[in-house]
Amino acid sequence: MRKQIAAANWKMNLTINEAETLLYTILDANLEVSENQKVVFAVPAPYLTLAAKKVTDHSNVFIAAQNIYSKKSGAFTGEVSVTMLKSIGVDHAVIGHSERREYFNESNEFLREKVKLCLEENIVPIFCCGEALPVREVNQQNQFVQTQLEESLFDLSADEIQQVVIAYEPIWAIGTGKTATSEQAQEMHAHIRSQLAAKYGEAIANNISILYGGSVKASNAKEIFGKPDVDGGLVGGASLVADEFVAIIKALK
Ligand code: 13P
Repeated sequence: MRKQIAAANWKMNLTINEAETLLYTILDANLEVSENQKVVFAVPAPYLTLAAKKVTDHSNVFIAAQNIYSKKSGAFTGEVSVTMLKSIGVDHAVIGHSERREYFNESNEFLREKVKLCLEENIVPIFCCGEALPVREVNQQNQFVQTQLEESLFDLSADEIQQVVIAYEPIWAIGTGKTATSEQAQEMHAHIRSQLAAKYGEAIANNISILYGGSVKASNAKEIFGKPDVDGGLVGGASLVADEFVAIIKALK
């Protein structure tokens, strides 16, 4: 059975004190995260060590980096490697968020290297895909996302692909308050799963968690997560508010 996942992406927000308070408040909220569920916090790099230590005594709660570099070590000033993450107990990494694709020119090919490195170090890549508004306006979103998957993921083996979590985040829904309808989310998630099935077979496709991201909040999470191919969410703004994110966790199937 694939996992149902609530993942917080704090992006470049919060001081250390604010981050600590937010994480502690959520973890202390009597969370029951069952075996078929996961809660993940993608926190800013300076807080990874602290956050990873804090979640060790909480079952099914994990910490993610928001990015990694595509090399394991070396003269790459300012970058963070999977090896470093592993050494501090971080076991997830967001790869290819649309903000990184847009502002840091990360290509599908570059992201393929990052995904590979994650898998080599047993770090779960949360691979983000999704189209911008002009692509949707001409109804090319399925082909666009398919190309992202093909170019970054489809050279993985059947074993490897099952370690990946996919997050569909339509760019026009990120931080805009404009959520995809649950039908739009389901339609794309079913398309992604059908592409996975065509490449790797039904059984493997059914094992892969596909998260929706883009203006998920407490008030719409249940409806979106209720769709058969939506396995939870990758949440930006609403994950910075303890009550909101706790409600989103509770909305998981
Ligand atoms: P919002 O939830 O703020 O729209 O952000 C979504 C996102 O980018 C999560 O990675």
